[in-house]
Amino acid sequence: MLIEGEGHSFLIDAGLSYRELNTRLKSVGSGMEKISFVLFSHSHCDHTRAAMQLVRNKIPFCACDETMDEIRLKLEEEQKGYVDLENAHIFPLCGSFPLGEFKIYPIQLSHDVHNVGFRIESPKDTIVAGTDTGYLPDEFIAATYGASKVIIESNYDPEMLRKNPNYPNDLKARIRSKHGHLENIDCAKGIEAILKDGKKTFVLAHLSEQNNTPELAFNTNEMYLREQGIRTGFDYKMFVSAQHIVTRIE
Ligand SMILES: [Zn+2]
Ligand SMILES: [Zn+2]
Repeated sequence: MLIEGEGHSFLIDAGLSYRELNTRLKSVGSGMEKISFVLFSHSHCDHTRAAMQLVRNKIPFCACDETMDEIRLKLEEEQKGYVDLENAHIFPLCGSFPLGEFKIYPIQLSHDVHNVGFRIESPKDTIVAGTDTGYLPDEFIAATYGASKVIIESNYDPEMLRKNPNYPNDLKARIRSKHGHLENIDCAKGIEAILKDGKKTFVLAHLSEQNNTPELAFNTNEMYLREQGIRTGFDYKMFVSAQHIVTRIE
């Protein structure tokens, strides 16, 4: 995810190859050479695929120390030897830290490895982003206070997951667990709680390609919220972020 500010641009996670990331950034007038740093939420491959190329291209990146250790281990396994993480920075898990004109607050999530979401404050705007969590912790909901945009996981539909013949039972159990992923209806309940703070824009993100569809995620969220008397377009806006193309949110 690309966040563009006045002076700095940065990415949350880098889960595509460096080349693919660069291509997608170019398609929106940016590029890896314009990225000041990358913030890693956690060490899973779908979030860290470009890490070695960040090291090679001397693009700074940040993670909490637990995640940084996991990333280092993965890179050293891949490279079969010592990897010098001279561009790597550890961020604290409590309170905020500055990055350019931004102020970043990590938010602890519930996943099978250490994982955080982020509240990002800039002079212009505040946004909150969090994916890969078995449930939405109260701290995440509290962190959305005053934010205009919330990027939130709507990972799976339980029926599609249950019927998916390609997933073994232990993987299904992992996804459903408190340390797995957020299902559509739990995302909707999270949005309902977040909207007590007033109107916001939501981006449904990290949809499973096999256990969800963009339409199903949108409709499940929209229908639940409508049943609570919350009207899309009036009380909130909602978009679904696509897997293979760039979704631009102004
Ligand atoms: Zn993950
Ligand atoms: Zn993930």
